Amino acid sequence: MTEELQSALENRGLTVSNLPDKGRCLLTTRDFYPGEVIISHEPYVCVPNNSADHSKCDGCFESSLHLKKCSRCRVVFYCSAACQKSEWKLHRVECEALSKLPKEKRRAVTPSLRLMIRLYCRSKLQSQKAIAVSAMDNYGLVEALVAHMSEVDEKQKVLYAQMANLVSLILQRPDINIKEIAENFSKPQSSTRVGNVQWKTYSS
Ligand SMILES: [Zn+2]
Ligand SMILES: [Zn+2]
Repeated sequence: MTEELQSALENRGLTVSNLPDKGRCLLTTRDFYPGEVIISHEPYVCVPNNSADHSKCDGCFESSLHLKKCSRCRVVFYCSAACQKSEWKLHRVECEALSKLPKEKRRAVTPSLRLMIRLYCRSKLQSQKAIAVSAMDNYGLVEALVAHMSEVDEKQKVLYAQMANLVSLILQRPDINIKEIAENFSKPQSSTRVGNVQWKTYSS
């Protein structure tokens, strides 16, 4: 972990530690009052969970009767010009890739695939300094998450690999690392999995 992140957390009364029975965890270094916010953080990337019959704005995640499709890729929706503008830097890269797909394939781009596409786009834009980077906002924090691949069953591993392949086919970039994308698919799932295990321990 970088010193910059450690000091950003210290300012909030927090520190990252490794405990033998819990693994990597966030500890407090001062007392917090009941109801006090310990930490709040914008997601590195996020995508509305849109389905064929229910869509939300890509900027504010609100459902609205007045959603308009991005006129270029026709995959994402916006409620207003303001939301479209706020998302444009990141969507521009994604939009370029999505627009190259045949129309029928664009419908098959699920929210999970889009999440990984945006993850790649955002890390790329940050590495080119087109989007600001800070101690609390950088791809290194995603890289640091544990994928727990050894605990994933073979069938699921094949599925992650297939999905990572699709992401690579959509993005068409030479520097894509399929293994890294497959691990990224596992990261949010494994934190739920680990969370469940801990929850069981607490309630038993
Ligand atoms: Zn909106
Ligand atoms: Zn678009």
